[in-house]
Amino acid sequence: MGIPITVAYGDGIGPEIMAATLIVLKEAGADLEPEVIEIGESIYQRGVSSGIEPTSWESLRRTGVFLKSPVTTPQGGGFKSLNVTIRKGLGLYANVRPCQAYAPFVRTLHPRMDLVIIRENEEDLYAGIEHRQTDEVMQCLKLISRPGCERIVRYAFEFARAHGRTKVTCMTKDNIMKLTDGLFHQVFDEIGRDYPELKQDHLIIDIGAARLADTPEIFDVIVTPNLYGDILSDIAAQVAGSVGLAGSANIGDHGAMFEAIHGSAPTIAGKNLANPSGLLQAAVMMLVHLGLGELATTIRNAWLRTLEDGLHTADIAGTLTKTTVGTLEFAQAVVER
Ligand code: ATP
Ligand code: MG
Repeated sequence: MGIPITVAYGDGIGPEIMAATLIVLKEAGADLEPEVIEIGESIYQRGVSSGIEPTSWESLRRTGVFLKSPVTTPQGGGFKSLNVTIRKGLGLYANVRPCQAYAPFVRTLHPRMDLVIIRENEEDLYAGIEHRQTDEVMQCLKLISRPGCERIVRYAFEFARAHGRTKVTCMTKDNIMKLTDGLFHQVFDEIGRDYPELKQDHLIIDIGAARLADTPEIFDVIVTPNLYGDILSDIAAQVAGSVGLAGSANIGDHGAMFEAIHGSAPTIAGKNLANPSGLLQAAVMMLVHLGLGELATTIRNAWLRTLEDGLHTADIAGTLTKTTVGTLEFAQAVVER
């Protein structure tokens, strides 16, 4: 019996990048038993406003490990973001997003960039608590709790220690939001005292984001509230080379979800154009989570070798590209290596 995991093919480019990722996992000999659930557009169309059905929750709670493709949330019409629903439903409080340059093989202005963004995943403005005060005044509640801050900040320091990182940077806007972001910063300073071997600093999010775009190589681990982390990690992935390259882990005490950081990119769907690397990197993080570190390393090395050999999908094609390949051909090239 393999290790049961829950898998969703998602929407847009989701099915293509999932098929590519599962081929690599299978050919690498990963002893996994994927249970496929349907989420996203097709479920919204059945009138289920959450985009996920009860039987799918049952699978997720049982396996505790979710490999997920991007889904499209219909605009307007009272549909909830499925990502937010799943993160909150499974208590996935930490969102871990490594962003690394793969120079010279993938074009980037910042070849030495190698950082990890650890984003709080359940609170802040993404708690989804919004009100209409009057016809002309809308309100969104920014919720920051001490236990929430402690969990994510502790996670970030433990992550840095476990991965041999040397610095943790906190980013907030506590000069303006003194109570909410102020609490996050204060907890960072408190918990940081337990990690004297790690360098620690705090930046106001606006200058922090500017530095990230300009000199990302000065950062190592970044810990930040939900909204800032969402924006920062897209910037970081793009600065590193492409949003199509980065994977992420969503970690909780009773489960974990692994996904690419990008969305469902409907404009390039169904054309065998999408880069499956983001989801593949997420799958590598999943294998580490499952204790299959050696297999994770094997797949990651094969993937790196594919990039080094100049086999690139269109989104990262550049001067060192030897062959521009499609989604499936890229996966096959990884398998060969
Ligand atoms: P969604 O509403 O689901 O976020 P989106 O169109 O905003 O969909 P994103 O994934 O956020 O899609 O991507 C924005 C753009 O980045 C896409 O239109 C596409 O050009 C590019 N992109 C994203 N992911 C990939 C990928 N895996 N491979 C190639 N290009 C990608
Ligand atoms: Mg998007």
